[in-house]
Amino acid sequence: MAGRLIVVSNRIPEGPNPAGGLVVALKDAITEKNGTWIGAYGEPGEATDSFDELEGTPYRRLAFRLTAEEHSNYYLGFANSVLWPLCHRRVDLVELQPEYERDYLSVNRRLAAMILRILKPDDMLWIHDYHFLPLAQELRRLGVSNRIGFFLHIPFPSHADLSVLPQPETFAGWLADYNLVGLQTGADVARCLEMYRADPRAEFLPDGSVKFGMNILSVRSFPIGIDVDSFIESASRSAPSPFGREEPAKYIIGVDRLDYSKGIPNRFRAFGRFLENGGAEKRPCLVQIAPPTRERVKAYQDITRELEEIAGSLNGQFATLDWTPIRYIHRQIEREQLATLYRRASAALVTSLADGMNLVAKEFVAAQDPEDPGVLILSKFAGAAEQLTEALLVNPYDTDDIASAIDRALEMPLDERRRRHAFCMQAVRRTDVSLWSTQFLRVLERCMPTLNLPS
Ligand code: UDP
Repeated sequence: MAGRLIVVSNRIPEGPNPAGGLVVALKDAITEKNGTWIGAYGEPGEATDSFDELEGTPYRRLAFRLTAEEHSNYYLGFANSVLWPLCHRRVDLVELQPEYERDYLSVNRRLAAMILRILKPDDMLWIHDYHFLPLAQELRRLGVSNRIGFFLHIPFPSHADLSVLPQPETFAGWLADYNLVGLQTGADVARCLEMYRADPRAEFLPDGSVKFGMNILSVRSFPIGIDVDSFIESASRSAPSPFGREEPAKYIIGVDRLDYSKGIPNRFRAFGRFLENGGAEKRPCLVQIAPPTRERVKAYQDITRELEEIAGSLNGQFATLDWTPIRYIHRQIEREQLATLYRRASAALVTSLADGMNLVAKEFVAAQDPEDPGVLILSKFAGAAEQLTEALLVNPYDTDDIASAIDRALEMPLDERRRRHAFCMQAVRRTDVSLWSTQFLRVLERCMPTLNLPS
């Protein structure tokens, strides 16, 4: 293949061997295609209008810095206080400020101009996530006609929620300048197409693609996954217990960034309901790993406080001298240790109110011993529920539903556990992350090129 692959994501992979999901997913493709990774790095500083080149990886890395104001308005503001809650069905948390959108657009514009300087005619661009929705539009304005793909890692917002934006129609316009928009699930694709169906500027072509101005856009789902074999290997290694001498006899595991979209308060309340309903006799422990995230945004400060209160109050109500029902760990745990924690757990609880995919669900499945697997309890609103249909699917808003799923998981006979696990494991393998990037790039290569007449 002739052209290079240029990947743009919010943060550039840092250090010689970063373990982030996207790096694992793209490292091979970008190395093979003589590629370049572009992303922000370091602490906010002086605005630059050219990239800093970072050494030490088999692919090229070009980094840029945000100013302190851009970090507040573009990153914490428009990306994480407007688009994140909007896409996660929390329009009540959307904070509209004119300077948020202004800087969101200006960062994308600046980046487009910087990319133009390094771009060759047959390069292909793959832009990642909600930080860069308008990047293709800005590049097209500069006359770029290269193929540009976009992948949204988080849920596609509903048509009704989009109307919370001051100019909702800009969202459809932003995406319309990509050649391919990849989404996590079929339900996301349906919401995206619903947006275009309601837009008089869009015309549907017989093959299902969308004609919008001079551009033809394909919208497809590419459910992301994990590096299955490497996860199985980490989990099967006979590692010492991460709990040391404090390992609970029976435990359920939850692993989430401390984000309001993950439904952790609902999970704690449901665990409390389960304990009240007689579950306390079984003395299981809920081990919740919840590393902090976006601590400067108020909604995240609120949820941190709320969780501490619920955990404290349930432990106060139920704990005995030799049993603490909720172990709440507010720090990041290394991947290797997580794999061991998953494998030793009787069940995992994923209760997201909205979630693009939820990789924790797939990691938990991959980490199990197939002869004696734990049970996955999974929110029907996580993207993973479209594939892991043999998990115990729950409505995360319904406390009793989760509480009875916990009981069912802890009582489930071995043959049912094996059957459900084998089914989920197949689905996890079908969406192995190496397939995800190859499939996306294959479809992007076949997209109609853009006819671009610079304005
Ligand atoms: N993770 C981790 N350490 C932690 C908590 C999470 O390494 O303490 C990893 C986890 O293994 C998973 C990722 O972070 O690979 C979270 O991905 P997911 O899709 O579940 O949620 P996101 O954070 O992307 O919303």
